[in-house]
Amino acid sequence: MSQFPHIMEPLDLGFTTLKNRVIMGSMHTGLEDRPWHFKQLAAYFAERAQGGVGLMVTGGFSPNRRGELLPLGSRLTNPLQVAQHKVVTKAVHEAGSKICLQILHAGRYGYTPYNVAPSAIKSPITPFKPKELSTKAVYKTIKQYGRCARLAQKSGYDGVEVMGSEGYFITQFLNQRTNNRTDEFGGSYENRMRLALEVIREIRQSVGNEFIIIFRLSMLDLVEGGSTMEEVIQLAKALEDAGVTLLNTGIGWHEARIPTIVTSVPRAAFSEATGQVKAAVSIPVIASNRINMPQTAEDIIASGQADMVSMARPFLADPEWVKKAAEDRADEINTCIACNQACLDHSFEAKRASCLVNPRACHETELLYTPVIKAKKVAVVGAGPAGLACATVAAKRGHSVTLFEARDKIGGQFLYASKIPGKEEFEETIRYFNKMIEVHNIQLKLNTYVTADELKSAGFDEVVISSGVEPRIPDMPGIDHPKVVSYQDLLEKELTLGKSVAVMGAGGIGFDVSEYLTHEGHSTTLDKKAWMDEWGVDISNSTSGGLKPMEIEPSPRKVFMLQRKTTSLGKGLNKTTGWVHRAVMKMKQVEMIGGVSYDKVDDQGLHITIKDREGVVKEQRVLDVDHIVVCAGQVSVNKLYKTLEIDQGKSFGLHLVGGAEYAGELDAKRAIKLASELAARI
Ligand code: FAD
Ligand code: NAP
Ligand code: SF4
Repeated sequence: MSQFPHIMEPLDLGFTTLKNRVIMGSMHTGLEDRPWHFKQLAAYFAERAQGGVGLMVTGGFSPNRRGELLPLGSRLTNPLQVAQHKVVTKAVHEAGSKICLQILHAGRYGYTPYNVAPSAIKSPITPFKPKELSTKAVYKTIKQYGRCARLAQKSGYDGVEVMGSEGYFITQFLNQRTNNRTDEFGGSYENRMRLALEVIREIRQSVGNEFIIIFRLSMLDLVEGGSTMEEVIQLAKALEDAGVTLLNTGIGWHEARIPTIVTSVPRAAFSEATGQVKAAVSIPVIASNRINMPQTAEDIIASGQADMVSMARPFLADPEWVKKAAEDRADEINTCIACNQACLDHSFEAKRASCLVNPRACHETELLYTPVIKAKKVAVVGAGPAGLACATVAAKRGHSVTLFEARDKIGGQFLYASKIPGKEEFEETIRYFNKMIEVHNIQLKLNTYVTADELKSAGFDEVVISSGVEPRIPDMPGIDHPKVVSYQDLLEKELTLGKSVAVMGAGGIGFDVSEYLTHEGHSTTLDKKAWMDEWGVDISNSTSGGLKPMEIEPSPRKVFMLQRKTTSLGKGLNKTTGWVHRAVMKMKQVEMIGGVSYDKVDDQGLHITIKDREGVVKEQRVLDVDHIVVCAGQVSVNKLYKTLEIDQGKSFGLHLVGGAEYAGELDAKRAIKLASELAARI
């Protein structure tokens, strides 16, 4: 019997059976918008189907032009589109899984000048004010939902998911903050629910009884004026009566100022809300948000909070998630660390999605790890993300790989990331690579600072230098003062710093270090209740939108964060996660100062000059701090490569990858991607 019997149990829906309780949730990959990408889209879904997932949901397709997320974005409105969708459904069915098409009308979240909504109220996160739909146009839209579902059925889909959460069109009708209509679709809650129910009735009538209809229901809106749990349950029951097969969980509108999926959100944070809905209906209910490993999924179903679990990003990270869980190989799962760096951030930049830990995601037809015909002897120097990815892919392809690491453990700079409160998930990547070293028989040589002579005498065919980066230490008076520490020393030696600290540099690491310094003791990511209290979430949703006053744990020390640029601090952070880091800094009362030049460090503290945007000196200041942590970027470690590069006597192919190649704007996403691509070539 599987270690995870609840997630592996089939689910009988009456007219069809799902082979397990795991759904791959909807994600917009960027392959949905153009017909010529559908073969790649099919390969992407087929790989996940082969990995054992019971049911998948596509990215969102609008039922009409006005509901598009982006101009000329994905929609299913025309019988001519059926053939391209059949390529996807056929591939999925041949691989033994099922797939539903998500119908998503963006409403006022449409990034188009022709978007429409229940009322002409602009959203805080899009520039276009929507046009209010007339009553007639609302009825026409309902019909278009039915047409879209019919076309999905003709395309071979097993069902549809109606997006009724995250603040999109249907949710905009449900809530008074976005609906001030006076017709039968506005006013009382019964009237505001009408659109959702009419859409389901129209779809059920269009597709018959033997077709899955999932409704993604907003169980916690996390915005002022949002629904209460009483209203959510009233809607859930009415949706069941209207013909919904499965109820999926949606948490938070996109404009909510509470994080719902980033790495610092506790695992399964919101499953309690799903549990309340499940207790009130008799159709199966699906839990979602920050579920990434089998034990978490198993516990949710075993505890009775849900019948199924939906995971989206974890299937980008590892298409074989279900297969590995079923075969009791959960420790081989390449865990989604919820960083958003290559998936959601890409979507928001209108780039194709992928995955930081698995660059093959959405590139299944392009990045191929083909087995080798003749194995080579490969040396990889440095076991940071670049070296680990390179060694794993090369060994998986059949090469004989030796991995040298100067330290006593693998991980490189990524080890420090996992020490930041809220980034505990990053340890999973290191766990995964440790397991891959074992599975693929990679010869790991720890505590080995390998030299050019050693590499030359060992008879390697290929040598990959992935020796990474080290902190940049700026040249300034007093940089050797005992008050000054590098981020590396702080995190490696777990130094205890004084009651006031200045952080030099406000990039990703400056922000992470500031979070480290402003938290003490437990990480709220590992303590659901503390996390809910800090962010002001009422998980019972007895209050409107599930909001309550925030109870912020004060910082144990005064922290200043500094940068030389005059732009606002944190502007360069990632699109979908930067706002969370900035919010935490505000909560912890970190003083942010831009336009700084660093004059000197002495016993008094850090002497700075502050200039305005025009370069005019505003102030000279001495920050009377106990310590100064340097987070001023990084420089490449590539002395070994340079020695080998000029050596005429070497008999192997020489490669340089990751931070050792170029330290500017380096992150693990780039390091892993370039290293995997290199390993796919050698
Ligand atoms: P490194 O990680 O520097 O690894 C190089 C390895 O080579 C080291 O282990 C070193 O000991 C070894 N080595 C060097 N010379 C030799 C030799 N001669 N012989 C043997 N071994 C040698 N990135 C993200 O994408 N997202 C994040 O959220 C994120 N957060 C971060 C938070 C912190 C606090 C820090 C410090 C970094 C963070 N990063 C993050 C950055 C990320 O960790 C780096 O971009 C990444 O580690 C670079 O990978 P690399 O393999 O090129 O180099
Ligand atoms: P970074 O983002 O490039 O930031 C470096 C900081 O140091 C900047 O604030 C820069 O601002 C300052 N700086 C640069 N040169 C300096 C000098 N000579 N003297 C003083 N200050 C200097 O790099 P990082 O913070 O070291 O992060 C490294 C990489 O890790 C980044 O590319 C980042 O993507 C990745 N990372 C990502 C995350 C994440 O959450 N996604 C988290 C951590 C790290 P000024 O020049 O204006 O002073
Ligand atoms: Fe998960 Fe990060 Fe990969 Fe996105 S990029 S799927 S969040 S690991």
